[in-house]
Amino acid sequence: MTTLGIPEVRERRTPTRIGKRYLVRTFGCQMNEHDSERMSGLFEVDGMVPAADVADADVVLINTCCIRENADNRLYGNLGQLKAVKDERPDLRILVGGCLAQKDRDLVMAKAPWVDVVFGTHNLHRVLTLLDHAEEWGPVTEIWEETASIDDVPSSLPSHREVPHSAWVTITIGCNNACTFCIVPTVRGKEISRRPADIVREVRALAADGVSEVTLLGQNVNSYGRDLGLEGSRRPIFADLLRRVGEVEGIRRIRFTSPHPKDIRIDVLEAMAETAAVCEQLHLPLQSGSARVLRAMQRGYTPERFLEKLRLAEATIPGLATSTDIIVGFPGETESDFQQTLDVVEEARFDGAYMFIYSPRPGTAAATMGGQIERGVASERFARLTSLQQRISLEKNVALIGSTVEVLSEGASRKDASMITARTRTNKVVHVAGIQPSGAFLHARIDRAAPSHLMGTPV
Ligand code: SF4
Repeated sequence: MTTLGIPEVRERRTPTRIGKRYLVRTFGCQMNEHDSERMSGLFEVDGMVPAADVADADVVLINTCCIRENADNRLYGNLGQLKAVKDERPDLRILVGGCLAQKDRDLVMAKAPWVDVVFGTHNLHRVLTLLDHAEEWGPVTEIWEETASIDDVPSSLPSHREVPHSAWVTITIGCNNACTFCIVPTVRGKEISRRPADIVREVRALAADGVSEVTLLGQNVNSYGRDLGLEGSRRPIFADLLRRVGEVEGIRRIRFTSPHPKDIRIDVLEAMAETAAVCEQLHLPLQSGSARVLRAMQRGYTPERFLEKLRLAEATIPGLATSTDIIVGFPGETESDFQQTLDVVEEARFDGAYMFIYSPRPGTAAATMGGQIERGVASERFARLTSLQQRISLEKNVALIGSTVEVLSEGASRKDASMITARTRTNKVVHVAGIQPSGAFLHARIDRAAPSHLMGTPV
């Protein structure tokens, strides 16, 4: 097994694996989904085509995540199944990338020595070189070990987009915060911003390729640009970036995820309101409504401050829809703390929420805190929170009945082929009668509502 350091070269090659088939399995967040699209793009640059399943594949890549629960069980379960295939077909190449690979490189190789390549979160642009190396010399690993630099952020990789009209654009990688439940700073490192000109160039290229919707990605988009320190000019900030991306012709919808409540300021809210393409949608992760729990999480805001910012956003951006993340059962959370979360949710009236039961992530500060909450208690609280949020989501959706909204088609509905699934600018799912191609904009009248979706008719 060889261990390589971070190299300086980018992939530039003529295709060497023409007609071979690749399969990518992605676990985790949007950042991982986007990384997988870019690695798929690199495989295709090398002449490969997508495989339908493992039986059909010459190269299998598992892009791991260690944020979700049981990530390692899932990885080793997948690798166990792949071993049987590799025993039959030794020329199958198995690659493991992403957060868990970054954190547990040696463990992956020790537990699954039939893996050919293990690589970290800043090394994805090297996937073809690592594959070449494994074929020539045997198993190889490569992760970043020290703080990476802006030059380790690939800015112009090809990408195989799952949805042709919609694209993710990375604006920062890593995170400078230290939320006690989160492994991201450990596995993705310090925050690094891409240069604004590189981002705008990528968005222009996407627009030229038929993309009309972009989602700007970063762990904390509000701190975008703070590390750039460009000489002779004011530092670029996220509000400037939104305005610049908003000027790119052909881009009709701009979304971003995620802002941090402690860092979101009026300049970003004003840029959202004043930039026509920026959607009226804000995902602001609350995590808990208890000041005591927020302190233990090291989130850097109080529930009152969170609500002030939410109200400011709603006052600044007409028609804004909001969503959040909430963790239930954080270590030490009492019934009174949880009640405060319910109170904040009642007051905030989010359109939607991603709710999670806390589970310890090895390597985080919270994993070793006292006062871990029994699963049964956390599940019961989770059920109460879910029920409250469902009621609020339904009330907000019912209020839309009779209105007409612009929607962007995502193609035929999976449940009913006579309808399309589409999204509003506020990121609500609408099932609309009739067929329209993916990527088509249309207007729909809202006829019915459920907590998680709307039903509409084209107008
Ligand atoms: S802001 Fe907190 S939760 Fe988000 S990535 Fe950074 S450390 Fe993790």
